Amino acid sequence: MKSIYKNKRVVQFLEKHFPDSPISVWTDWKWHLQNSIHQIHYLSKFLILSDEEKSAFELSGFHLPFLISPYYLSLLCQKNDTPLRKTVIPVQSELIKTTIEKNDPLDEKLYSPVPNLVHRYPDRVLFLATDTCATYCRYCTRSHIVAKHTVHASNAEWKPAFDYIKNNPQIHDVLISGGDPLMMSDDKIDFLLSEIRKIKHIQLVRMGTKVPAVLPQRITKELVKILKKYQPFFMSLHFTHFDEITEESSFACKMLADAGIPLGSQTVLLKGVNDDILEMTKLMKALLTHRVKPYYLYQCDPIPGSSHFRTTVQKGLEIIEGMRGHITGYSIPHYVIDAPGGGGKIPLLPDYTTIHEDGSVTLRNYEGKIFKYPV
Ligand SMILES: *Cc1c(COP(=O)(O)O)cnc(C)c1O
Repeated sequence: MKSIYKNKRVVQFLEKHFPDSPISVWTDWKWHLQNSIHQIHYLSKFLILSDEEKSAFELSGFHLPFLISPYYLSLLCQKNDTPLRKTVIPVQSELIKTTIEKNDPLDEKLYSPVPNLVHRYPDRVLFLATDTCATYCRYCTRSHIVAKHTVHASNAEWKPAFDYIKNNPQIHDVLISGGDPLMMSDDKIDFLLSEIRKIKHIQLVRMGTKVPAVLPQRITKELVKILKKYQPFFMSLHFTHFDEITEESSFACKMLADAGIPLGSQTVLLKGVNDDILEMTKLMKALLTHRVKPYYLYQCDPIPGSSHFRTTVQKGLEIIEGMRGHITGYSIPHYVIDAPGGGGKIPLLPDYTTIHEDGSVTLRNYEGKIFKYPV
């Protein structure tokens, strides 16, 4: 990433906010972690805060800690009105808890047979490896566990989870998430993947991460070398908005894709952030050209203080309908609701068909034209 030296955003950001650091620090993920902003009060050194943000900071009672990496902050500093700002900087609305909102909306605790595992579907498990992230999303599904030190994170503490997977041969697929698994050290990631791969009936290993979008420097040659040992190994990358497609994140995706790791994306539909057909289309097309196949578009989960993020389901359907036919199907994610109460991911599709009594079907195409499929 030599051109980082010519990247105006990076050069200006470092000159202004870290004048004593050479530009070379930018490619060092550990520098980003060491210089992450934990205290919302420091934010005013970087950004002109709105009244809504300021008043939020004066109150306390956020259930989710605040954390942002210098890299991600550089995206917010670039233009003061980026929609990304709302996803990471708390506003006063976050303190409003509505009656439908729950700490654990997907009832993951109920589906957890042993610590660190959620076993909701017969053939696959979710492995919660860590409870920290490089930047905290204000709409986080697991805001009740993130940074709460409730997730067991040492090698020895993972044993019950490994044993459970070993003792349940119907499990073929382990999805590692958290927190963000890529916050762990290379050695620890290597250990976790090798322990899972040792289990004979595991066919597929997957990892969910937002690191390529919030701390792309973490995707190093050394890390990629570890990850590629465990194929078939898939990654689901969390991207929210086109503004996250930068020189750095593009390079992170390229390194992973060049290593032969199939990449999918996950995006949460967020009011005022990406709930727009053109914006969503732009992001999905950009991901695909970076060899990241859009996988899921999630309706926002009802966690405490999320009402300002949630759109109607109608909005999500409009966005999906606005993409279908206009861009390649490869770019179109599955729009799903992870059903509150633990029902799992349920797909939602715009209504394109009417099935008649004789078995024939009336179909509507993307232009609204009507077609008939005969019996
Ligand atoms: C999302 C999820 C999975 C994986 O679902 P896929 O549709 O296979 O990607 C597995 N377990 C849990 C608990 C999940 O939430």
